[in-house]
Amino acid sequence: MKVIKNALQMQKIALKHLRDGDEIGLVPTMGALHEGHISLLSKSEKNDDITIVSIFVNPIQFGVNEDYLKYPRPIKKDLDICRKNHVDYVFMPSVDDMFSQEHRTFVEVQKMQDILCGLFRPAHFEGVATVVSKLFNISYPDRAYFGIKDFQQLKILERMARDLNFRTKIIPCPTVRERSGLALSSRNSYLSEEEKNISLKISKTLKEAVHEFRNKDLNFVKRNVLNKLRKIPNSRIDYAEIVNFSNLSIADNNTKRVVFAVAVWIGKTRLIDNVIMTKRSK
Ligand code: AMP
Repeated sequence: MKVIKNALQMQKIALKHLRDGDEIGLVPTMGALHEGHISLLSKSEKNDDITIVSIFVNPIQFGVNEDYLKYPRPIKKDLDICRKNHVDYVFMPSVDDMFSQEHRTFVEVQKMQDILCGLFRPAHFEGVATVVSKLFNISYPDRAYFGIKDFQQLKILERMARDLNFRTKIIPCPTVRERSGLALSSRNSYLSEEEKNISLKISKTLKEAVHEFRNKDLNFVKRNVLNKLRKIPNSRIDYAEIVNFSNLSIADNNTKRVVFAVAVWIGKTRLIDNVIMTKRSK
């Protein structure tokens, strides 16, 4: 496994693999790797000749009062995980290399970036789309792997890849959860034991919503989820919304495939989760 810290060098290596006919898989991450990330890079291991994992805590996707500085950066542990999982290259650029003082270009995925999480984190998805488009141009991936856990991000990047004619195929990967149901996230490390116990309510509530969705009205399901989430102690709801699976527009009772997406603060930690629900045809 090689650790590459420079974008130009990564680009040259990727280009060489491309010319040699290798298929390249890219797994973009911000590090603090867990089983969720590992499921992505294992998928790339199976599909691709070369697996590149990028580890970059991207400053431009954090708001001013967000956790950029305190975001966990266990570099040694992350590299061990990558090595153990047969990653070929870890791309770990510096902030200056990715975003120089002169950087002026940003990628905007209109409408889709302004809803759900985008309402509460205004520059977030522009930051994500910009860094991912740079990563695509640096590593020429045939496939790039993203978690359904970050559903809005996944849909925005699918749109971006189509709209900007990237050669990369976006591969959605299922959410990996603890046995308790809690979706794995690097931010779970912020939670105290008590907060962790409380936060299980989020996935439990969504799981119950999947059952209700089979035979109940959409608004009923939504109201019920909101009521349950409001009862979680020491919490605050950013949103709990049912959206169309394909384009993130607000769903109605005729929408066949929907996603119930929520963002809830537990203490000082913001957690997101979602479930995909499909109406059975009668
Ligand atoms: P992050 O390091 O949080 O930016 O995440 C990097 C990638 O891992 C993103 O595509 C995430 O959606 C994905 N990911 C994060 N948590 C999970 C999880 N629990 N299950 C599956 N994928 C995940």
